[in-house]
Amino acid sequence: MANNSSPETLLGAIRYFSDPDVALHFLAGLRWPKGVECPECGARDPLFLKTRRLWKCRECKKQFSVKVGTIFEGSPIGLDKWLPCLWMLANCKNGISSYEVARALGVTQKTGWFMLHRIRLAMQTKTFAKIGGEVEVDETFIGGRARFMHKSKRERVIKGTGGLGKVAVMGFLKRGKGEKTSSVRLSIIPNPPKKSDLHSNVQQVVKRGASVYTDALVHYNGLDEAFFHDVIDHSVQYVKGRVHTNGMENFWSLLKRAIKGTYVSVEPFHLFRYLDEQAFRFNARKGTDGSRFLAVARATVGKRLTYKALIGANMPAAQTC
Ligand SMILES: [Zn+2]
Repeated sequence: MANNSSPETLLGAIRYFSDPDVALHFLAGLRWPKGVECPECGARDPLFLKTRRLWKCRECKKQFSVKVGTIFEGSPIGLDKWLPCLWMLANCKNGISSYEVARALGVTQKTGWFMLHRIRLAMQTKTFAKIGGEVEVDETFIGGRARFMHKSKRERVIKGTGGLGKVAVMGFLKRGKGEKTSSVRLSIIPNPPKKSDLHSNVQQVVKRGASVYTDALVHYNGLDEAFFHDVIDHSVQYVKGRVHTNGMENFWSLLKRAIKGTYVSVEPFHLFRYLDEQAFRFNARKGTDGSRFLAVARATVGKRLTYKALIGANMPAAQTC
């Protein structure tokens, strides 16, 4: 339904979704393309309670809203705010901070922070399919802002990361071919990284027999048993024919720019959500704003993140970024 007329700009999205009925039917159309279904028993054709914007199942008699079973569940924030927020995070190249969300949508910074994290959950690409072809593999270290933190906070935040306050991230860039653009996959690895960590990650992500390009880090030695492994020695040169990791390096610089420029500080505990966000935008970079928005909106279904799960057991109460 609504998808033909779905907005193409942020302004369009704000206008379009300012009507709560339009927003409701937009989301209902995305999650139930064949007609509304009871999330409890699966029965079709529930009764729509127009004034309350709820459905009532004719079979099990349960009432449900369009938010049930999505990242929006349990949130008192209306879709008129949620959907523009989703638009911004899907499309702002360097991300958007909770302070900006708070100002733009008239919510508190804490609410904005929670909204952004829930949307990042929708942006998480859960794929277990291995990648083949030509793959650039590289690792980087993110963070180090812990040094600006108060000592007690720093101790809480950086424990378990080798005392450096940095998080080690491993990246895999599958090179594009023809129409297909390159895409990245990221995983957080222990810091300092061990050879076994690097090897097991490559084996998990990359198909046997694929071409794997890395820098000359000795930890990568031995990959040639399962892959066509070629090495670029950065102390000598940066490109050796097709052998380089420039695509991955380019992604790291985009990622670091976004994190430094937009987010005041990222707790290591939450870093993976920012990685999901950046990888999503990078992998969908050839689409339009409207198509990126739709991709995230569709992925809001079947995912849930409670505030308790988000803040974890021992995180500081005040959240930034
Ligand atoms: Zn039912």
